Amino acid sequence: MSSSLSDRLRRTVGFRLALWYAALFVASAIVLVGLTYLLLSSSLARRDHEIIRSTLVRYAGQYEQGGLEALNSAIQTDTLAGRHEPLFVRVLGPDEEAVFSSMPADWPDFDVSQLPSTPPANGSQWTDLAGPGDVVLEVDSVQLPDGTLFQVGKSTASRDEILRRFRAVLSIALLVMLAIGLTGGAVLTRSALAPIRRLIQAVRTIIQTGRLRARVPAGGTGDAIDELGALFNGMLDRIESLIAGMRGSLDNVAHDLRTPMMRLRGTAEMALQAGGPDACREALTACVEESDQVLAMLDTLMDISEAETGVMKLQRDPVDVATLLGQAAELYADVAEDRGITLAIDVPAGLTVMVDRNRMRQVLANLLDNAVKYTPAGGRIALEAAPVDGRIRLIVRDTGAGIAAHEIDRIWDRLYRGDTSRSERGLGLGLSLVKAIVLAHGGSVDVHSEPGHGSEFIVSLPQT
Ligand code: ADP
Repeated sequence: MSSSLSDRLRRTVGFRLALWYAALFVASAIVLVGLTYLLLSSSLARRDHEIIRSTLVRYAGQYEQGGLEALNSAIQTDTLAGRHEPLFVRVLGPDEEAVFSSMPADWPDFDVSQLPSTPPANGSQWTDLAGPGDVVLEVDSVQLPDGTLFQVGKSTASRDEILRRFRAVLSIALLVMLAIGLTGGAVLTRSALAPIRRLIQAVRTIIQTGRLRARVPAGGTGDAIDELGALFNGMLDRIESLIAGMRGSLDNVAHDLRTPMMRLRGTAEMALQAGGPDACREALTACVEESDQVLAMLDTLMDISEAETGVMKLQRDPVDVATLLGQAAELYADVAEDRGITLAIDVPAGLTVMVDRNRMRQVLANLLDNAVKYTPAGGRIALEAAPVDGRIRLIVRDTGAGIAAHEIDRIWDRLYRGDTSRSERGLGLGLSLVKAIVLAHGGSVDVHSEPGHGSEFIVSLPQT
């Protein structure tokens, strides 16, 4: 494996997780195995000590009662009965001379002359006599009332053998656990990182193809990574629809700009052909009007995108709702009268909203402008306001043409104009601006409409 590849591998989350998992697994296994070993070795030592001590007490009793003969027969009986493995037994007379000494033949050579031959100070004493290798002869001594020193000992060879075998088994078990830890870690990390790999694959496809169609397949686990995948898909849906909207807007803008620009060009061309100063003046006046219309459209488009992106600066002040609606109604009173439409206003006093006064005037002007445009003579427009659920509702209601069901969701789109509205002046930007400004204020807009009977536009704003 090249060094850069192994470096990369070491840096990958998957590799590090697998290693951590294996390390923790093996560390716990080592602790468990270590504790088991300590428990086994200490309980084996305790069992040996108990055998030595009880045998010493028993043999010393026999010797006191029946002398060497009784001791010999006790040793033989134990050996025949297989009560415990043969032990070292030594009896030293009061003059430290060995009266009896027995050492199992298959034991390693212990130099028993190194054992203390004087009576223990407290009547009983443990001595460890080192033999060849690591083997030790553990001896317990007791002094009998007549001054005889009685010693019984046991070699640790058999205990060491058990522990050696146990260590060998444990080493194999540890190796197996290490293998399980590494494999388990790799498998677990692999499956845990699978959703992230799917996410990476989706992002890679999007970057490579430039298309936003790719989606992260649902994992169905409902965990945080699954949620991330779902959120990522949701984000892609949203981006896709925004891009589609932007493309549509761009197409519409291009289309809508083309008409006035063609008119501009036509007017200028005709003036050039006619050549007279009067024709030129007339053409220039028409050109200025056309340019104004194009500029108004571009300004509104910029306002909408500023409000939508949160860049629009809002000068929020507490604004009296009655005054706000009153001024808006005043502005449209003459137009409404000219068209034979009644304009009524019904607003309770004392309602205040925290808004940018001029922007909110723009909102109401656009709604009233539409109401007047799309309401025939003899109709009625009502301006109302009311506090509802901690918010203030501003309502512009008319008895005009209404909006067809298939158009109702599209009227807020940029440059969208209803099928029957083409005869009226307009750019199809009024409601987009209304919605963008109201949303920028933290409010919401809604519409209820019945074709042929009228429409009701509701602006809901947070109360001060
Ligand atoms: P426009 O310049 O066409 O009025 P708007 O964005 O203001 O653009 O409105 C979009 C469309 O919504 C209009 O073309 C019209 O079809 C419909 N509309 C808006 N207000 C009303 C209303 N009060 N009554 C009926 N239709 C309406």
